[in-house]
Amino acid sequence: MHNAAFAALGLNWCYVACEVDPKNLRTAIAGAKAMGFSGLNLTVPHKLLAVDMMDVLDASAKKWGAVNTVHFTERGAVGYNTDADAVTTSLREDLKIKVRGARVLVLGAGGAGRTATLKLASERVAELFLVNRTRSKAETIAAEIEKHYPSVKISLGYPKGGVDLVLNATSLGLKPEDAAPLDLKQFKFKQTPAVYDMIYRPAETPFLHAARMAGCKTVNGLSMLLHQGAKAFEIWTGRAAPLPVMRRALEENVYGPVQS
Ligand code: NAP
Repeated sequence: MHNAAFAALGLNWCYVACEVDPKNLRTAIAGAKAMGFSGLNLTVPHKLLAVDMMDVLDASAKKWGAVNTVHFTERGAVGYNTDADAVTTSLREDLKIKVRGARVLVLGAGGAGRTATLKLASERVAELFLVNRTRSKAETIAAEIEKHYPSVKISLGYPKGGVDLVLNATSLGLKPEDAAPLDLKQFKFKQTPAVYDMIYRPAETPFLHAARMAGCKTVNGLSMLLHQGAKAFEIWTGRAAPLPVMRRALEENVYGPVQS
């Protein structure tokens, strides 16, 4: 999506993917800077490690405790986080969800689940329900929210009544043999009008399919990926990201050529 965007804006830039062993991350960042890279994106497990390797942390990286975008400037390596905003931008644009005041059931308390839950709390959802296989991780997030966003009601486990959104932030659904992320004995699709699955490959997980069949509005995580990338593009280039170009390139890359 970045290379398509560079081409669309006539920028003679190039985005490449490099696999870096975590033990070499500091050297890799210094090397990219020395070679004149404008910036980098980082993914798991580098996002947390890089926090201590930046010369400057943008407020976004400080707030979410992770760096997914680096910009090399005269101030040195500046670390940003563009993931958190991408979650709520995608929810608003794709599901037309009004985040403020909403009741949300979040499945998963890994890196993505934590960021999404804290971001929803920061945007003043009314109530959050957290479900995670490892309960202690959900408890840690709940404690963070109680400390930083005391107006947000938070509980562990499934809600008794309805919610406005169910958000799957577990990795269940990446593989065809995966179990469902939601326990249908404890929560029925009729309890929510909307379901978001952060997984985008496959385009429709069995969970998302079941939700759609039950009448829920459903969206996958592709545009979350798009929006974190678009924000990174703007940080590096100082130009507005050509979103339709990036979306199309992303869809073609992930799902194959789109018939026009
Ligand atoms: P992670 O830190 O490894 O967390 C994985 C989550 O899935 C944890 O909550 C984990 O529960 C749960 N899980 C894994 N296997 C499970 C199983 N067998 N049964 C029950 N729960 C299980 O990964 P992450 O970075 O948060 O990513 C989570 C998902 O979000 C992935 O599918 C990833 O592809 C997707 N994602 C999408 C985007 C996007 O741009 N669309 C961005 C980031 C992530 P435990 O805590 O109990 O281990």
